[in-house]
Amino acid sequence: MNLYVHVPFCRSKCKYCDFTSYPGREEFIPAYLQALEREILSLSNLKCEINTLFVGGGTPSMLSAAQIKQLLGIIRDNFDCSGLKEFTFESNPESLSKDKLEALLDFDRKTRLSIGVQSCLDEHLQTLGRIHSTADFLEKYALALMTGFENINIDLIYGIPGQTVKGWLVELKKAVELKPQHISAYCLTVSPETQFGRDGVAVNDETTAEMYRGAVEMLTGAGYSHYEISNFALPGYECEHNKNYWRNGEYTGIGCSAVSHANAARCKNTVSLEKYIENAGTDKIKEETDRPGAESKLSETIMLGLRMRSGMELTPEIHSKYAGVIDGFVKDGYMGVAGGRFFITPKGFFVSNRILTEFF
Ligand code: SF4
Repeated sequence: MNLYVHVPFCRSKCKYCDFTSYPGREEFIPAYLQALEREILSLSNLKCEINTLFVGGGTPSMLSAAQIKQLLGIIRDNFDCSGLKEFTFESNPESLSKDKLEALLDFDRKTRLSIGVQSCLDEHLQTLGRIHSTADFLEKYALALMTGFENINIDLIYGIPGQTVKGWLVELKKAVELKPQHISAYCLTVSPETQFGRDGVAVNDETTAEMYRGAVEMLTGAGYSHYEISNFALPGYECEHNKNYWRNGEYTGIGCSAVSHANAARCKNTVSLEKYIENAGTDKIKEETDRPGAESKLSETIMLGLRMRSGMELTPEIHSKYAGVIDGFVKDGYMGVAGGRFFITPKGFFVSNRILTEFF
């Protein structure tokens, strides 16, 4: 099984953030950890073997070293971790420390550390409402290497107000020079319920297209494989946990707002921290269940699968429904068909939004 654990605590709310995250609620962490344990004990797949584990947020690195050990101890006590292929832990520079990093490596020597860097320029970090500086990031990155991490992802954002194409590429070059095993480069999206949304921040599509083009060129030139629209990895370091999402595979999500996908249904936990803590371990935390019909399941599978460079199997069902659409994109060089699979080409990745909507 693939297990996701959501840790919804943050020091403050970033201006672009639409994740389930609660700033200034640290006093709830002990109760939250107990609630996670209750939810785990209520699962039908208790004691199953875990293939990949992803602890995300929020800011999981806000937990103290003792709390990280407690959380990982709960997981180890209740699942079979002997065949664990990948363990990712999300972090932010301001809350990483040596004892926390050691606690992660004690659990799994191959822990994949994901650092929310977002920008390598202090001015942009301030615009985004981030509370760390570039110096904080560089210091914690060096600390992670010294502690023994050999699999590090850094998250970056482009399209930040005030950021130029040239400036973005200078930032990205700084990141590439550190040689992290994985880089996620996301275009800024502005949701209405965020501070940026309320402030009316707009993203310029032409500029971000140029930024994306430059990023793809620089990263692939530096030896990173562009294996998903926004994700780049050195050989052997693609994120297996996320690849399962893109393959529309099953997974178990625990914690506030976490989603599980099993038996052809997606089920989402409550986003309310209080409600989750009070009711974890019972069905009262389940708020939404989505059981897509065969048609929407097929569109969903295609839209997820085509995010990956390897694309997906061109089954008779897909061929009979979408042959015209696929042929059109192949003719324009945006898609390819080979070895029984169909996929978006590097040229097509630049207009992937337009391509994906055709399968909806
Ligand atoms: S650190 Fe991440 S989860 Fe927390 S507020 Fe910022 S973007 Fe959201």
